[in-house]
Amino acid sequence: MSSNPQTAPFGSVLAPIMSTATFSDGAWSAHDFVPLAPIPMHPAAHVLHYASECFEGLKAFKWADGSVHVFRLDRNIARMRQSAQSLRLPQPDTAQLEAMVLGVIDRNRDSVPDAPGALYLRPMLIGTSPNIGAAASPSSEAMLLVLASPVWDYFAGGGAKPLKIYVEQHATRCASHLGVTKTGGNYAAALGPTLAAREAHLVDQVLFAPGGEVQETGAANFLLIRDGHILTRSLDSAFLHGITRDSLLVMAADMGYRIEERVFTVDEMLEWVKDGEAALSGTAAVLSGVGTLVCGDGVSHMVGTGEVGPNTQRLRSALVAIQQGTAPERHGWLRTV
Ligand SMILES: *Cc1c(COP(=O)(O)O)cnc(C)c1O
Repeated sequence: MSSNPQTAPFGSVLAPIMSTATFSDGAWSAHDFVPLAPIPMHPAAHVLHYASECFEGLKAFKWADGSVHVFRLDRNIARMRQSAQSLRLPQPDTAQLEAMVLGVIDRNRDSVPDAPGALYLRPMLIGTSPNIGAAASPSSEAMLLVLASPVWDYFAGGGAKPLKIYVEQHATRCASHLGVTKTGGNYAAALGPTLAAREAHLVDQVLFAPGGEVQETGAANFLLIRDGHILTRSLDSAFLHGITRDSLLVMAADMGYRIEERVFTVDEMLEWVKDGEAALSGTAAVLSGVGTLVCGDGVSHMVGTGEVGPNTQRLRSALVAIQQGTAPERHGWLRTV
């Protein structure tokens, strides 16, 4: 495995320091900062049997002056607390999780890549009660960890390759009440349909649109974009409420785009992409243009010219400029570490 984040696959290089805290007897322990290492775990731990797990993903950026800034940490903490509650796991304490993330960034400062790289932070919460009979009861013990991973910007330099996406109108990404919960089980559920579509249609990702209503892909939100107009699904419990999605919509409104948030169908999407743009949003990918949509009948639909569209590029650059400190930020989204 390469240790150079410029060439290593996303997430395969980890920074040397992590943070841990444990929950038992109804309270969180003090947290520690320790060298990255395997964690002790009972083989009967709840998470290993009943998937009591949730996680977060966010980034810290090194600016040209060497200062380091984390993006929308408050929102990621709030979402993790919401995920924990939905899985009946002990909720992380807001102030403690904030101190853990900030401390991990600070202690791994030498691992924060220069722009356009970033330090990706991965808070994770697991149920650790040792009881294989607890299938229908929550884990009363838990462990909270924060890992860090230096990552490169694979789409830098305008070299972004437009994505090929399969539109899945039958299988669902996850159980309908867990769409808003950032839990590993949802990824496990999406893996089968995603690999099947990759094999059958040579696509990069799957866009889940059960019953013909467009939701999102396995790990990113979906936006339709054209000059002065963005259409994306309105927030509901069926899909993950991305913080990148929210940031792009706020920014695009500032830039004069009309933002339309509502349910829309595959048919409407195919009409839109005849001369419009489509893109995926998320912390890892920021905003990635879609070039082709493949439908269930195997028919390919080119999105616009098949290349990453100008509005997609413009919005992506605008968000990256805010994160990297080359454009002013007016919404309180960055915090200096
Ligand atoms: C994490 C995630 C996203 C993107 O969320 P961001 O906050 O923008 O990183 C979108 N969809 C799913 C299913 C996710 O797990």
